[in-house]
Amino acid sequence: MTKRKLIDDQWRCYNITDLGCNGPRDVCEYCGYPNLRFAHHLKRSTGEIMVVGCCCASQICSNYNGVEAERIMMNYAGRRKHWASRVWLRSARGNDHIKIGDLAGGIFGSGGAIGWWARLNGAPCEFGKDKYPTQVEAKLALFDYISPAKDEIYRALKETTNV
Ligand SMILES: [Zn+2]
Repeated sequence: MTKRKLIDDQWRCYNITDLGCNGPRDVCEYCGYPNLRFAHHLKRSTGEIMVVGCCCASQICSNYNGVEAERIMMNYAGRRKHWASRVWLRSARGNDHIKIGDLAGGIFGSGGAIGWWARLNGAPCEFGKDKYPTQVEAKLALFDYISPAKDEIYRALKETTNV
């Protein structure tokens, strides 16, 4: 890897990918650092694209705080990780439900023999059709519906970019 790409004020970060705690690692296309959990996707006004780590992203995009963006994404990953193990209310049939503000949702199954479904009051019918092999996976599907990663990425980029 060489620092062949020209740095100027025309780069901006448009996406962040989280490869997870135990996932594969990305390589920074700018400095060659091989152990990136978070990949920052940069785009230049001319259309050129580059995937880099947080420090290079902050350097290349003069108005972007890659470290802070990663902090927001880590926080989101932590919330998602703890979601399934938080306190849920359990019905007599063993179905867990949760109420957060105006949101009320539940996980329904047949003791896990057939599978588990996630339901959310007020959600469109399309949500809740998928079946999950475990209760935890159904709970994570509910989390992903309530707090989609794309919303959090949008927030992280918006809060850490000064344009
Ligand atoms: Zn780098």
